[in-house]
Amino acid sequence: MSHIIVIGAGQAGSSLTAKLRNLGFDGNITLIGEETAPPYQRPPLSKAYLLGDMARERLFLRPESFYADQNITLRLGTKVDAIDTAAKTVTIGNETLKFDQLALTTGSVPRFLPTAVGGDLDGVYTVRGLSDVDAMAPEFIEGRHVLIIGGGYIGLEAAAVAAKSGLKVTLVEMSERILQRVASTETSDFFRALHGERGVDIREGCGLKRLIGDGRVNSAELTDGSTIDVDFVISGIGIMPATALAEMAELTLENGIKTNAFGQTSNDAVWAAGDCASFPRNGEQMRLESVPNAIDQAELVAANMLGAEKSYAPQIWFWSDQYDVKLQIAGLNTGFDQVVVRDGGAARSHWYYRAGQLIAVDAMNDPRGYMVGKRLIDAGKNADPAVVADASADLKPLLKA
Ligand code: NAP
Repeated sequence: MSHIIVIGAGQAGSSLTAKLRNLGFDGNITLIGEETAPPYQRPPLSKAYLLGDMARERLFLRPESFYADQNITLRLGTKVDAIDTAAKTVTIGNETLKFDQLALTTGSVPRFLPTAVGGDLDGVYTVRGLSDVDAMAPEFIEGRHVLIIGGGYIGLEAAAVAAKSGLKVTLVEMSERILQRVASTETSDFFRALHGERGVDIREGCGLKRLIGDGRVNSAELTDGSTIDVDFVISGIGIMPATALAEMAELTLENGIKTNAFGQTSNDAVWAAGDCASFPRNGEQMRLESVPNAIDQAELVAANMLGAEKSYAPQIWFWSDQYDVKLQIAGLNTGFDQVVVRDGGAARSHWYYRAGQLIAVDAMNDPRGYMVGKRLIDAGKNADPAVVADASADLKPLLKA
């Protein structure tokens, strides 16, 4: 009987195996994950779960019984040591598993602070896995001082949780402004003000020189020349695609594991999806670090493993929760040359244009702006900037234009 092995039991791996069964595949499926928890959602880790507002079980994408019920062999706490694409085998310790087709959904790995700057001291955390958050949660005690390194979504969401929990928060961002990699000046300004109102000390254009401590971190020297006392540190300085196994298997890498439009790697029997995989779009290999991408690409790969030959056309959207603000993002703002602000007071959105064409929207507590923007972008339609800028103007007619 045919055997599909999926390596990586996160959002993409779980979606891929479920979809294989949903499409009627009745061969053997093995889903292998290095972590001990069954596949879980990551977004709440830096939000509700860290805040203590969400029970651990609610993180799980599917009940553990699902995998047994679907006849999916779930092997947790299991590290794959090697892949032999010629022999079509996967090695786990002394054990060799044979596959007919293989999918890599290995996700990404955080960038760690180097040991040379004190990254190995106790009390220094990253936010990537459930065990990371379980380890740092007891540090969230009112009145303590946390230093957050990195002003991307991880850093800002952790800052919001810490401020809400009554901690003193300092956040340093090496770039000129927070969210520089992903958003406009207008959006950075909005989130800087939001955190400032909650007492978060945001220092932009400021990096970490080194962390100091005898075993455990107790202070930090920053590149602005200051030294601050800290109780613990959270590092959110970005992630990299997890490509070590693919590299060992001699698959082609280009901005992650290179796949074609079907999600197939440079080896016909091996596929990849999610954070670790790049796919062709507008003449380059694009990689998207997002949950919708992990699900959609994984489900597409499942169909293509069964012969569908469908090309991937991602619908791009993201979200973030900070305090009482829900940020929803539609589209990719790459190369934008104009930002139109729609300021409706409590509801606000920033609309990005490139050469006069709408390409992305950041909506802050503005679900209507987000919904209309997303539908326009997905349909390749435009939006008159004059209508967008007038917060009293109805947006719906734009969809009919
Ligand atoms: P990120 O978006 O790459 O942000 C990391 C930030 O840290 C960058 O602005 C980076 O600046 C800065 N930085 C790097 N080294 C630094 C240093 N030594 N000192 C001070 N600042 C430093 O990555 P992330 O926030 O860690 O998030 C990881 C991934 O998860 C991303 O893909 C993110 O989008 C995703 N995520 C998404 C959500 C969401 O959508 N709600 C939530 C959490 C995480 P440079 O750019 O100049 O290097």
